[in-house]
Amino acid sequence: MPTPSKTNFFTFPSCQKLEDEDVLDGMGNVPDNMRHTFRRGDNVIIQGERGALWYGVINDIRVQCLKTMHKAWIAARWYYRKEDITENNIHKYVDIIAPEEILSPAEVIKFAEGEGCGPLIESEDMFTRWSMTASGQHMLEGTTHVFQVCQKAYNPDKDHQHYCRTCRKWFHCGCLKRLPKASNKMWEYVIEQGRTSGLSCNDKFIDALCIPISQGKVSGVVGNGMTILAMWGAFEKSQEEDIEIDWNGNLTSDMLEHTTRLHVYYQCPLCSKAGRVSYM
Ligand SMILES: [Zn+2]
Ligand SMILES: [Zn+2]
Repeated sequence: MPTPSKTNFFTFPSCQKLEDEDVLDGMGNVPDNMRHTFRRGDNVIIQGERGALWYGVINDIRVQCLKTMHKAWIAARWYYRKEDITENNIHKYVDIIAPEEILSPAEVIKFAEGEGCGPLIESEDMFTRWSMTASGQHMLEGTTHVFQVCQKAYNPDKDHQHYCRTCRKWFHCGCLKRLPKASNKMWEYVIEQGRTSGLSCNDKFIDALCIPISQGKVSGVVGNGMTILAMWGAFEKSQEEDIEIDWNGNLTSDMLEHTTRLHVYYQCPLCSKAGRVSYM
């Protein structure tokens, strides 16, 4: 059955989800990959030509009612790399496809750019960091986060960044002035934080709090913010409420391994400018 044109597609009744009976043109069995109920907004992997696989979002589902059967069609919005988008291929932004072309649901993680922590992204994971919408012949692009000092974006493959807990901002390490090697300023800072509230801190935990919050390159796209910030959260809560911290509950074996490393620290330029001292 020929794929309807976009104009034709939009004349069919729209529906929220894709039901088994709408999937095929009334012949044969529903293939296993289509037993999943697909809904608008679902991320999917779509079989392309010559074995290529594409990521897309189900934008719209419409059912063509023929004399003897129903046939569903999908408007799929493709995920592109930023550099793939030009004014000339705007028309490719959405395509009408047959549901059988969907291989499986896909997980696409939204990268919480600029935030201290976000969902973990493994090296093989598909993630998106900017959004775009089409309006007429124009592509409206979601803003890409730029960083303090250089006003440049973050490239997880090339950049290494450290996070300042005080001003809650990421900085490219290359944009910062590093503290002398083997500086114990960070350690002293953490100890001082504990001392003010009369806490006696477990050494291993202090070591763990001294791990810089970093992302990019070997630290991964999202980095260790989630773990370290959770520890800081526990540490600060214990100070406020005068409770014991479950030191061991917060320390993972991976972190214990990291605590033995000598870290490189920086002083936050933004905090310095504001008259605060903050190490990262
Ligand atoms: Zn920078
Ligand atoms: Zn800062």
